Amino acid sequence: MTHREMLQHVRGELVRKMEGLQDALKQTATRMKDESFRMADFVDQAAAEHDRSVELSMRGREREQIREIHETILCIDQGRFGVCRRCGKVIPPARLLLAPMSRLCTTCKQQLELDSRTGYSAADDRVDRYAC
Ligand SMILES: [Zn+2]
Repeated sequence: MTHREMLQHVRGELVRKMEGLQDALKQTATRMKDESFRMADFVDQAAAEHDRSVELSMRGREREQIREIHETILCIDQGRFGVCRRCGKVIPPARLLLAPMSRLCTTCKQQLELDSRTGYSAADDRVDRYAC
């Protein structure tokens, strides 16, 4: 597999995953609309409210995932995908295929996990607004 093919593969996977999440979000939105119509008949409104808040927080996570995937796709399109944010080395394709959202190479990731006093945390191995 060439580097270009690997990028296309990862990009395809990300697009599929993003579309799946977007579908799930739409379905949740439709279901919640239906439920608010039926709400008048609901005996246990507290339980219904609880379900709604669980669903809303799940939607928040899905939105966050969609944002991360979208930004990773942008990185690929801009040719800045697959470079370690910490040391600037190319991240091995095997790692990118397993974890396309990685922003750190395996060595840096391990170092950060061993030494949390650097000010970095494992959470830094994720896309943020200013990634790439
Ligand atoms: Zn690195």
